[in-house]
Parts: sequence; C-alpha cells; structure tokens
Amino acid sequence: MATIKAVRGTRDLLPPDTTLWNHVESIARSVFARYGFGEIRTPVFEATELFARGVGEETDIVSKEMYTWEDRGRAESDNGQSLTLRPENTAGVVRAYIEHHLDEGGLLQKLFYIGPQFRRERPQRGRYRQFWQIGAEVLGPPFSGSDSALRDAEVLEMLATLLNELKIKGWRLALNSVGSAEDRKRYSVALREALVPVKHLMGEDNQRRAETNPLRVLDSKDPNDQEIINNLPKIADFLEEDSRAHFEQVKAALDACGVPYDLDPRLVRGLDYYTRTTFEFTVPDGSGLGTQNALLGGGRYDGLSEMLGGPKAPGIGFAIGEDRLILTLQAQAEAQEPAKLDAFIAPMGPAQNPGALKLAQELRREGLTVEVGDGAFRLKKSFEAADKLARRMVIFGEDEATSDILTVKDFSAGEQTKVPRAELAAALKVQPSD
Ligand code: AMP
Repeated sequence: MATIKAVRGTRDLLPPDTTLWNHVESIARSVFARYGFGEIRTPVFEATELFARGVGEETDIVSKEMYTWEDRGRAESDNGQSLTLRPENTAGVVRAYIEHHLDEGGLLQKLFYIGPQFRRERPQRGRYRQFWQIGAEVLGPPFSGSDSALRDAEVLEMLATLLNELKIKGWRLALNSVGSAEDRKRYSVALREALVPVKHLMGEDNQRRAETNPLRVLDSKDPNDQEIINNLPKIADFLEEDSRAHFEQVKAALDACGVPYDLDPRLVRGLDYYTRTTFEFTVPDGSGLGTQNALLGGGRYDGLSEMLGGPKAPGIGFAIGEDRLILTLQAQAEAQEPAKLDAFIAPMGPAQNPGALKLAQELRREGLTVEVGDGAFRLKKSFEAADKLARRMVIFGEDEATSDILTVKDFSAGEQTKVPRAELAAALKVQPSD
C-alpha cells in the first residue's frame, strides 16, 4: 500500500529540532515581556473578506496564495461562508482589536503572537506552505501615542535585542518610509507613468504588476529588470513634510540607541496596508536560507483599522519567519554539539528496573535531565545508548540498590567513580568543563 506523506510544503518538526524551536520561543517571550507585550491567539481561519480587505486584493498573497474554501452551512438556515486559512496574522489581530473594543481603555495595545500561517507558495528551502511566524503589533487610538516615531524605533530596537539574544550573526536592518496613504497614492501615479515607456522591456510578471500594482515592481528580484527598476522615481521624493519628519525621528531614535540600519528606497513590502516606516531584517549569504534571506519584515499600518471598519488606530508591527530563524541558527551553529542529557541510568537486569525508575524520579525532581535504559539491555548496548544521549551513565545493579553507593561513568573524562546516593544529584550537575 502506498504510504501517506505530509502534504507538499508542510513538514513535521521533530526532536531535537523542537528543542531549538522552544528555545527561540522562550527567548522571544522573555524579550516581549520586558517591552510590555502580552500574548494574543487568534483563530487559524477567518472570513476570507478579512484578508481581501486587510491585506489587499492585488497582492500575491490574496490573488494567488490563500487556502480558501466555501464552508457549507450545517443546516438549511445556516448560510455557507467563504473561509481562509490565515496567510498572516496582522489582519486577525486588528480584527480582534476592533471586535473586543481594545481601544476603549485609551491605552496603547502591545500584542505578540506565535503561530502557523499558510500560503500556497512554491516550496523551497526557507519557504513553506505552512510556516510559523513570531510577530507583534503596537496599536491604539492616536492620543495613546500609537502614531509616534518613538514606537517605530522601540519596535526596531526590540528586534535588534531579540536577534542579538538569539545570537544571530551578521543581521542587517533595511529601512524605508513609504509615506502616508496620500504620499503612496501620488507615488503610485508617478510610478505608473514612469513605467509606461519601459514596461514592455520587462518580464511578464512585472508587466502585469505595472498595470495592477506598480509598487510591487520594486519588490521584483528579476535580474533582467533591475536596471530599469533602479532608474524609476524614488518614494523619498514624494513624501510630504509630515512623513519626512516622522522618518527623521525614527532614524534619530535608532541612532541614539545604537541600532545600525541601511536605507533602502526600494523596500515597499508585499502587503498593501503599510504606511510610513517599512523594514526588513536579512542575514548574510551562507546563513542557511539560500535565496530566501529575509528573516523578518514589518512596518506601520496607520489606516488598517479603518479599512476593516474599525476606529482610527495607527499601529506598527512585524512578523519573524520562525522557520528561517531556526535554519539560520542551525547553519550558524553547525559546529556546535547538540545538548546532552545530564544522566543515563542503566539498570543491570530486569529486576532493577523499578529501582532505576525511582532513582530517575528523584533526579528529575532535582531538575536534572535523565533517561532510563532497560534491564533487558546488555551492558554494551547500555553503554552505547548512554554515550550517544548523555554526559554521564549511572550504573544501577543489585549492589548499588542495596548499598546506596552508585557507580557513575563520566564519558568526557573517561572516569568511573563511586558516589553516595545523597550526593548524586549534585555530582551530576557539575559540568565536565567546571
Ligand atoms: P510577510 O508576512 O510576507 O511580511 O513575511 C514576514 C516573514 O515571514 C518573512 O520575512 C519570512 O521570514 C517569513 N515568511 C513569509 N513567507 C514564508 C514562507 N512561505 N515560508 C517561510 N517563511 C515565510
């Protein structure tokens, strides 16, 4: 019979990789807590209209990549509805903000999420159809200070801190401002005009984008079109005084905090809701991501709440590609040994199994990481398993059970010692390099 495999573009996350996933998530949670963020969990599927309105009909995500289906009503009276697996989480967070009247307290809302997102993209290394994002949003009524440049800088400084605490090496922050909705509109018109005489020279995708959504042309990676793109008008020349001043304040606060950035006038990002500050963090070639070197992206979305029928609620947010973060950490730490357990307990004969399990219970209660073998294993097999999994092996035979003196084999030192049971936990906590 043919075996059933995980669907193309999805994958299982297995130990020991999941240890790294948990490590990344716990550092993210601890950084978010220090900056005053609380967790939000929104549904994995939403009404299709949320993304059509919130992300934009013309974006690749909405036009090509969503998992959408007609959900049948269960009763005659129950209408069917078009539903979609979330391709990103910002629209869901803003929907929840509106639905639960989170603006009513008048305070800034700082929310983070960790969860899977779904896009029908062409799978490749670092690009999946179910992938995880760690993201955060800062939003609130304008009088809460949600439109202040300080918030943009705080979010960027927090991201720099997070990447440094995760020990991601060589990250770069690319920064731009796409201005207000009006600035963007004027820029779009200018771009469309500038594209008229040259678009026939461009690839098929860009010819289409030049008509439907000219800003998207700037995102293009098509090598043949780069020269044309570099000569197109720049958004910076279309910013009104307000947007320009806002961007200057963001940069000044980043300079004050010592967060390095590169200005990138082409960074407009894939989603329609962005206004003013946009950014992306990338890692250098050779960081395990192949051509997908964008680790995270985000920006300001001052009009999104109104687009979804809500009150004015300027905001800024980002989404980190967690899969890519993990690939980067793995590539950058290739030489490092995976963490080993503190001890492997080897019962000598089946009769010692209950006593060995009880010893493991004691040690685990002391906070040690412990694996128990099986008395049915031959000594050689216990040794091999212990050497693979743990830093030390504790031999548990009849003598040890009665005398309460255990034999401990230290693999890195190659030594065997006798340790009284009462001192065992402390002895096993000593790192071989201590
Ligand atoms: P976006 O929501 O498109 O702004 O993407 C934010 C981040 O999510 C990107 O910088 C990537 O790191 C990650 N990402 C986006 N799409 C995928 C995907 N299909 N597979 C893995 N990571 C992705």
